[in-house]
Amino acid sequence: MLTIEGLRSRYGRIEVLHGIDLRVDSGEIVTVVGANGAGKTTLLRCLSGVQPVTGGAITFRGETLTPVPAYRRLRRGLAHSPEGRQIFTNLSVEENLRLGAFLFSDARVEKDMDDAFQMFPVLKQKRNLAAGGLSGGQQQMLAMARALMGRPSCLLLDEPSMGLAPIIVAQIFDVVSGLKALGVTVLLVEQNAFGALKIADRGYVMETGCITMQGDASELIADPRIRAAYLGI
Ligand code: ATP
Repeated sequence: MLTIEGLRSRYGRIEVLHGIDLRVDSGEIVTVVGANGAGKTTLLRCLSGVQPVTGGAITFRGETLTPVPAYRRLRRGLAHSPEGRQIFTNLSVEENLRLGAFLFSDARVEKDMDDAFQMFPVLKQKRNLAAGGLSGGQQQMLAMARALMGRPSCLLLDEPSMGLAPIIVAQIFDVVSGLKALGVTVLLVEQNAFGALKIADRGYVMETGCITMQGDASELIADPRIRAAYLGI
């Protein structure tokens, strides 16, 4: 579904992605794990088109994505739930969700909203409240639900566990796991390597702008190097 070949990106003169090769097949959950600053967020920003690419190629559902502007990529089926959530704090929960559906004006928007509320019941309780008043976990749920309102075939998910209590992280990872059954392919970027690898089919390890390991998630969890470097075991 998504193929990345030799992807390079830079901030000013500093190159931070040094030729990334990565593949996500339809229906998979693929995770990219790595320490703070490895380049994971930059990778997702290149995929959604908000960060310029300086080399390599991105192919999504058989089409070259590189020349497609960011605002057109959702229409192609690629949605981004960004680092830091980036919700509209002055707007209500419902208004945030409706913005996620900006491409659509059909009756299915209401059904999609019901589905989002079923996925995250707490958002239904708070649908008319300002999103800025939500807890961190609820804001993360809103960011994911808003991305899903765009009816993506592939969701780019940046650090959904960041700063959240373990019980909320478990809930969020459960929902990510469940997206498969809804036909949504997921590329999940995480510092929480254990949590991410537990729900993923395959994983990649990123270190200072390069992919250093890759494999089935179960193999990566069992790998002594990963256990020592990322799982604290
Ligand atoms: P984190 O988990 O903190 O988001 P990450 O793996 O996602 O880390 P990136 O945020 O992609 O890493 O950062 C990769 C490198 O690019 C880091 O060295 C970072 O300092 C640098 N960087 C990120 N954003 C910018 C920016 N806007 N301007 C300059 N350098 C940046």
